[in-house]
Formats: sequence, structure tokens, C-alpha cells
Amino acid sequence: MIDEQQIRKIVESVVASVAGSSDGGLPKGTSGAIVSPAPAPKKPAVPSSAAGIRGNEGVFVRMEDAINASKRAFDEFAHFGIRERERLIGIIRRVTLDYAEEFSRMTCEETGMGNVRDKILKHRNCSKNSPGTEDLVSRSWSGERGVCLEEYAPFGIIGAITPSTHPVPTMVNNSIIMLAGGNTVIFNPHPGAKRVSAHALQTFHRAIVAGGFPENLITCVENPTIETANILFNHPDVKLLSITGGPGVVKAAMATNKKVVAAGPGNPPVLVDETANVEKAAEDIIKGASFDNNLLCIAEKEVFVVETVFDRFMMAMEKAGAVRIDDIHMNLLVEKAFIKSDKGGHVLNRELVGKSAEYIGDLVKVNVPEGTRIIFGETTMDNLFVQEEQMMPVIPVVRVRNFDEGLKRCLEAEHEYRHTAIIHSKDMDRITKFARIMNTTIIVANGYSTQGDGPDDGEAYMAFTIATPTGEGVTSPRNFCRIRRLAIAESLRFV
Ligand code: NAD
Repeated sequence: MIDEQQIRKIVESVVASVAGSSDGGLPKGTSGAIVSPAPAPKKPAVPSSAAGIRGNEGVFVRMEDAINASKRAFDEFAHFGIRERERLIGIIRRVTLDYAEEFSRMTCEETGMGNVRDKILKHRNCSKNSPGTEDLVSRSWSGERGVCLEEYAPFGIIGAITPSTHPVPTMVNNSIIMLAGGNTVIFNPHPGAKRVSAHALQTFHRAIVAGGFPENLITCVENPTIETANILFNHPDVKLLSITGGPGVVKAAMATNKKVVAAGPGNPPVLVDETANVEKAAEDIIKGASFDNNLLCIAEKEVFVVETVFDRFMMAMEKAGAVRIDDIHMNLLVEKAFIKSDKGGHVLNRELVGKSAEYIGDLVKVNVPEGTRIIFGETTMDNLFVQEEQMMPVIPVVRVRNFDEGLKRCLEAEHEYRHTAIIHSKDMDRITKFARIMNTTIIVANGYSTQGDGPDDGEAYMAFTIATPTGEGVTSPRNFCRIRRLAIAESLRFV
């Protein structure tokens, strides 16, 4: 049996021999899996899985090789204390700030969704505001029979699925909160964002290794697919799955026998009642819903307004710069934004997700001035823009008789995702009732959605993985740790 250290030595020597060959060594942009290297004379054959272990700055061809490398990295990382982990997190924060614009441009180009200005902000937010090791506060208590101490320990290798809507910010946020706990992370990025994801991962990886940390603390596969996700989901060395995506991937992960932290879809409703500061509500809704062309899972997606202030609200939206469209154009937009499915019902037209208001207005021949952030119009409850998580800067507004009807409609539109809901009201009893009945992970009262997930806007720390179905909520390092207890009997109680 060759032990891991021996394998590593062999791999290194083979890599050295390949690097010295006429093709110039490892092919750039290919994972670094050493494709059939001619075994050097007098050296034992290299198992192919061991050869792949090296990857190309954290990017691998085969998921199995990423897992092997991550396992080794986890063992090495165990020698780094909490202060060192914090230094590592500092490197990731700095690189994210330095490359915010580059990553944002690349993401827009590759995914065709969102806008560079807001994506830069997203990168900055997750760099500055993702919690680090300070979140891991141990607990202790004492009594006549001794002392108990509880600490946060790593799980090991975490398999992380990231969405196309914010591929790099999710990678950054996940890396920070998972490495803080001493874990290693393997990403299976969204196929629609695989190039920027691999590029960002390599950029972070380079800085991490240059900082004196082990290779492969974060890794990904070059060509992520459902198959590579399934290898990650089912591999015995992967101890925890972190899923950030829509209903399909959450369902698939929850069918495994692993612990899953799942951040599923949302469809955040907004209720504006007659006591609200209606003008401010309109401005807040435009601000929250338009951010990155409404790609955020927490963003305002449909609005219910009590009828006595309905007209005032619609005027306030226009005054604040949103473009109102009539029901004929709203219905035309429905036809563009949703495609009839073979199985009956509708599916979202992905081509329109995250596009600008101008682009969407053009499709139905509505004049939307340059720089417009939101299109809006009155609809009924059954409109697909109300019912579906549409992720477009198009806001349907539904008239309701009173607060209670509005609350009922919000509850229906949220579909029990238990994600986010927003209320504008000056009546504290109604805000309390709204929060209790909606039962969502995040409630924002009298503000815009991102005030519930990020301290630059409000008082909240931020996560890009808001674990709704599995209940961890706005995730932080402690959600990716095992709690371990040391019980000291008959001692250490010193008073
Ligand atoms: P998506 O569901 O299309 O894809 C997410 C990831 O899952 C991708 O990597 C995809 O390849 C993979 N995937 C899809 N089906 C799979 C399956 N059956 N098995 C294995 N892997 C599979 O999501 P998206 O469109 O990129 O992102 C938007 C969705 O993510 C929205 O629904 C949004 O609300 C949600 N989201 C939620 C949060 C949160 O914190 N709750 C954060 C961001 C995004």
C-alpha cells in the first residue's frame, strides 16, 4: 500500500517531469489532471486519481479528484489555528474587493443577467459583511459537579452548489463562513457561470497559497454538471451539503442521506397599508426590487396595496422613476416572460431573467427611458408575475380592500417558501401580526429588502445562503460546524 504522503511525492515528481517536457507542463485552463504522462523510468506508476489530485489552482477535471485533494487539504488545515483562519478570511475579503469589478463584468458577460454596477456592490458587501471566526463563540457553564465547555468543530469537506444569479458572491460568502469553521469547500458552480466561477476560484486559490496556506482549501470542477453534483452529493468523504439554488436542486440534495443546509427559492411579497408612508414605500420598493435587475432571492417580487392609498402609491412609483404600463402591456409581458410547458402550466423564460427594464420594455414596445430601474403595473392575484419567482425588474401591483386581505394575499403569493416578506405600515400591531402569520425567515418592516440581509443598508449581517427549507436562516460560520462538548467532572469550578 502506498500512503498518501508517498503518492504526493510521486505526483510531484511526475509533475516536475511533465513540466520539463516539450509541451511546457500543465495545460492552462484544463484542470491540471495529468493526462497519461509517460511514467518516468524507475518511478512507480501513478494512480490516475492521485495524478488528478493536483488540479490547476484549485480547479479539477474530475469531481473525485477534487474530493481527494480537499480531503488532504482538510487534514493540513487542521494545523492552522483560529487566528490563522481569520488571516485567511482576510485574504479572501481583500481579493474580492480588488477583483469586484472584473468578476462583475465577467459574470454579466457570461450569464447575461444583472448589471455591473449592482454586482460590484454585491461583491463588496459579501467581502465586508460575511461573518468570520468571531461568530464561533464557545459556550461554557459550571456547577457543583464541574464544568462544561462547548466548541464549534469543523464538519470536514463541504459540498457547495452555487446559483447563476450570484456565482462569485456566493462562492466568497460560502468560503468565508465555511473556512472560518475549519472546513474545506468544493464548489459545483452553476453551469451557466462556470467560467467566471473557475476564474474567481483560481484567483482566490493563488492568493491563499501565496499567503502560506495549503492548496485546495477551496476547489471546484471545471465543467460542473448534474452528474458532478451527484458525485458530490453521494461521496462518503463529503460530510455536509450547502445548496443555494431553486427548488430542483434543493429537492435533489435533500434526497441524499447527508446533512443539508438548503437555501431555496423565494417570492417575497410586499404589503403597503393605509397607515404607511406611501411615498417612502414606493422608493424602497424600487430600490430593493431593482437591485441587480431583481435577481436577489430576497428582493420584492409583488406588491399588495390597500385600496384607499392605491392611486397615491401608483403615482408615487411614477414620481420615483418607475415606468407604469397598462394591463394590455402587462399581459403581453406575461406572454414573453412565461412559456407554456408541455406538461401543462408555465415555465419561466430564462432569457428574460435579470434583464434590464429597458430591454424588457422594448419587447412589448413600451418606451422605457434609459436608466429606468423598474416597470410596474396593476394586475390581479392570478397574474403569473405575482405567482412565480420571476427575477425581472417588473413589479405587479394588486389592489386589496384592507390589511387583512393584503396579508392573506401575501401569504398565498409566498407559497410557504418561508423566505422573505416586507411590510410598510405604521401600525405596530399589524407589523407584529404580519410577521407572525407570514412565518418567513426574513421580515423587513418599513424598509427595502436588502436591509434584512447586509449591514451596509441595515443592521443585519449578510449571507448569500439563506437556509429556508432547512431552517438555519441567514447562515453564518456556526451553521457549518459541529458542536462538541467537553465535560470536566468535579473540577474547575473555582468559586
Ligand atoms: P438553479 O436551481 O437553476 O441552479 C442552482 C444550481 O443547482 C446549479 O449549480 C445547477 O446546476 C444545480 N442543479 C439544478 N438542478 C439540479 C439537480 N437536479 N441536481 C443537482 N444539481 C442541480 O438556480 P439559479 O437559477 O442559478 O438561481 C436562482 C434560484 O436560486 C432562485 O430560485 C433563487 O431564489 C435561489 N436562491 C436562493 C438563495 C437563498 O439564499 N435562499 C440565494 C440565491 C439564490
